[in-house]
Amino acid sequence: MTQQELDQLLSLLEMRKKVVVKKITELKNMLTVEAPDCAVDRVDRTLDMMEKERLSKALRLKEIQRVKIDKALVKIAEGRYGFCEQCGKEISLERLMVLPESENCMVCSGVVKF
Ligand SMILES: [Zn+2]
Repeated sequence: MTQQELDQLLSLLEMRKKVVVKKITELKNMLTVEAPDCAVDRVDRTLDMMEKERLSKALRLKEIQRVKIDKALVKIAEGRYGFCEQCGKEISLERLMVLPESENCMVCSGVVKF
C-alpha cells in the first residue's frame, strides 16, 4: 500500500467516523424522546416499542462500526493498518476502499469461500 493510498483511506475513515458519530447522536435523541402518555393508546404503544427496538438495534450496529473505525485509525497511526486480524495477510485495497474499517480479509470474513 502506498502512502497516497493510506492517506486516501485515512480521510475516508475520518469521513465515515463523522457520519457514524452524527448518526449515533441522532439515534440517541430519537430514543430518548418520550411520546406523551395521553396520546398513546395500546396500538401506538406497541408500534412505539417496535420502533424503539429497531432504533436501538441500529444504534448498537453504529456503535460497533464506530469502535472499528477508531481501531482502524489507531492501526494507521501505528503503521499496522490493512492486515487481516485472523490470518495476518494484507486486506485487498478494493475491500478497504469500500469498507475501510474492515478487520478481516475477504476469505476470513466469509465473503470469498474456497
Ligand atoms: Zn484473513
